[in-house]
Amino acid sequence: MKVLKFGGSSVANSENIQKVLAIVATESKNHKIAVVVSAFGKTTDKLLAAANSALVDIQITKEILETIKAVHYQIIDALIVKNKTTVSNEVTYLFERLSSMFEGVFLLQELSNKTLGKVCSFGERLSSYIIANAAKEIFDATHKESRELIITNDSYLNAQVNFKITNEKINSFFTENKHQVTVLGGFISSNISGEVTTLGRGGSDFSAAIYAAALNAEELQIWTDVPGMFTANPRVVKQAYPISEISYEEAMELSHFGAKVLYPPTIQPALRKGIPIRIKNTFNPAQLGTLICKNPKNGNEVKGISHIEDISLITLEGGGMVGIPGFSKRLFETLSQQKINVVFITQASSEHSICVGVYENDASKAKELLDETFSSEIERKKIKPIILENDLAIIAVVGESMKNHQGLSGQMFSALGQNNVNIRAIAQGSSEKNISAVINKKDAKKALNILHEQFFEERIKQLNLFVTGVGNVGKRFLAQVQQQKKFLKENLKLNIRVIGISNSRKMFFDANGINLDNWEENLKNGVPTTLELFRKRVKECNNRNSVFIDNTANQQVSEVYENYLRESISVVTCNKIACASSFHNYKTLKEVSKKYNASFLYETNVGAGLPIIDTLKNLITSGDRVQKIQAVLSGSLNFVFNNFNENVSFCDVVAAAQKEGYTEPDPKIDLSGVDVARKILILARESGYQLELEAISNNSFLTEESLKTTNNKDFYASLTKNEGHFKNIYKAAKDKNCRLKYVAEFVDGKASVGLQHIAPEHPFYNLEGSDNIVLFFTDRYPENPLIIKGAGAGADVTASGIFADVIRIGNK
Ligand code: ADP
Ligand code: ASP
Ligand code: MG
Repeated sequence: MKVLKFGGSSVANSENIQKVLAIVATESKNHKIAVVVSAFGKTTDKLLAAANSALVDIQITKEILETIKAVHYQIIDALIVKNKTTVSNEVTYLFERLSSMFEGVFLLQELSNKTLGKVCSFGERLSSYIIANAAKEIFDATHKESRELIITNDSYLNAQVNFKITNEKINSFFTENKHQVTVLGGFISSNISGEVTTLGRGGSDFSAAIYAAALNAEELQIWTDVPGMFTANPRVVKQAYPISEISYEEAMELSHFGAKVLYPPTIQPALRKGIPIRIKNTFNPAQLGTLICKNPKNGNEVKGISHIEDISLITLEGGGMVGIPGFSKRLFETLSQQKINVVFITQASSEHSICVGVYENDASKAKELLDETFSSEIERKKIKPIILENDLAIIAVVGESMKNHQGLSGQMFSALGQNNVNIRAIAQGSSEKNISAVINKKDAKKALNILHEQFFEERIKQLNLFVTGVGNVGKRFLAQVQQQKKFLKENLKLNIRVIGISNSRKMFFDANGINLDNWEENLKNGVPTTLELFRKRVKECNNRNSVFIDNTANQQVSEVYENYLRESISVVTCNKIACASSFHNYKTLKEVSKKYNASFLYETNVGAGLPIIDTLKNLITSGDRVQKIQAVLSGSLNFVFNNFNENVSFCDVVAAAQKEGYTEPDPKIDLSGVDVARKILILARESGYQLELEAISNNSFLTEESLKTTNNKDFYASLTKNEGHFKNIYKAAKDKNCRLKYVAEFVDGKASVGLQHIAPEHPFYNLEGSDNIVLFFTDRYPENPLIIKGAGAGADVTASGIFADVIRIGNK
């Protein structure tokens, strides 16, 4: 004997039911089969809605009833040929009774649990009757009313089974019954007086387990719309996958903590008799599914993760509780007398507080009752009035062999902490099968994904990028991500997704990752944005491993970094303004980054993609000390002075540098030396010195007139006007057989920048094109400096520097 249960979606329409019948036909070749079915599709939800509307607007009830009827008659039409008239008549009769019940609710303006249970029972009464008749057309089958076999107490919506009577009834029926297949409705039962009761929402699984246990079935199969019990709810965690084998206890913990695929009470009867439960996919029977059994094959120590939403925490707190027995007894007694289910318990070891989690629906009633129970202690200020917190969720990590592995809870909480998920309470059962934490409801999805990544996808880490600025650098960056995505996933196990993009006017988001083939089009059609709106959206996305990327040179953008970091969102920037702002601000950003465990990386602030800052950081952290830095740090100025000579105009060379993407959007920032000053400032700070930009001496080679201009047009005009001035500068160097290099220096705690005559023997003399060079003189490199040299400007190298920072975060 086998028991096969098919859920609502498996029997939602005639096509699905044909699949069900094919599965039953195969299984019944060698076994007698009890088939337990749910109501068709969403029928139970609709029946409940119809009953509730009957209290308010009977017209709505009638409309809902019509949609229910339509589904049922369509299925009869499609699947029943021989007995169509009989079946249709019986179904019409049942619908008439249902309709009278709704009229009754409307007239009496009363909807008791008893009536509600009765109304709901029609879903399975109808579905089992129709499916049994459809089955009879193909193979030997019969229908049996579950209400006659499963006997319960009087709790109409959540009835407790009387196993003794139930088992007897089931056995005596099946001993007599000679049919190969028996179709029964799940969920429904009756009390000892024959009134309809129901086993709770999702209860058809339980019905099937009751039959399986009573009949000592070889196997209980739960056929549903997913191929098994997953490592996490597949609707919430995209990367979740079916667990191949799991123990009864583990499956029970997962279902108790929200894995809806199995109704929690289902396991008990099967466990008692040691009946294996197989969860299978009706829509793909070939998939293996999940086997729930006594001794599952060894798997991951963490088997699955689940969560329950709509939880409230109730805290009983006060010095008056310490050392005095009986507080928790009174608390639990009060709640249980009122049938308030406690989902979660934790008590501080100081006995100073007890904290329980209940469903949000019960929360205010629970508080009221407990305030009453403890009123005298509260009045005497021995304890505080009950503290109630809403909008919470419980997440649970489940696995029997977790107890043999140290550090799993550490991993769980640090993964959550690193991603800014605030934990309100923690409980670990002494069996150590389950570690649960209470968190804010809004963080639940993120938390599940973080934990899934932590325990099941260690191999692939997902990085979620939010990119601001899609000019030269931003465009190249997105192109590089697009190009390398696959390689990174395969080789570095990094899955990089760009979730949001913005320029100064528009933004575009796609929670599943923006298609980088046509982001430009999408951004063009995006929604208007501001820095604040963009940040709000990023925050709403609430992704783990989030990185904000600033590809602009904009002051305002640089001012929002701190806000991102405070949300544990890392920041990667090629914009130098933040790091070259006041030392106080620079330091704050670093501290906030540390505190919130979010990286703040800006390798491209100096020398574009060259690994200058990273190298310097490594020197300092390994205990070296910087004595002196000498550098040519402006790719644009190097380009300008490498190309300027007696035959070309200075203005044309600057224009060419800008065209090549070697200058800032405002070329005066480069030409005036401000850009270089910012860079040496950043290097000095990274070396551990506290320095301000104003303290850097900057001997600009520009004329007063050029320095005073306020826009690019005037600036270029001033260059043309002062051509003679630039030719003189060039000639002075050439006469000494020297080249012009704009040099930054940091020595003895002081920094300076300015144009210098460089003689042929100097390492700077042969610096080509837009190259940069840095010489670090340190305690370990006192005479022969550590030299870093290479292309120091340009959109491509800058973009690749940003990319390298992103990968650094991924590898962290
Ligand atoms: P049925 O109607 O067949 O009883 P349910 O809707 O009750 O089906 O249960 C199946 C659903 O349970 C899946 O579609 C899935 O969304 C949800 N679910 C939640 N957690 C899990 C999990 N850990 N594994 C599989 N499914 C889960
Ligand atoms: N039809 C009932 C419900 O939707 C029982 C079940 O399908 O398990 O809750
Ligand atoms: Mg179900």
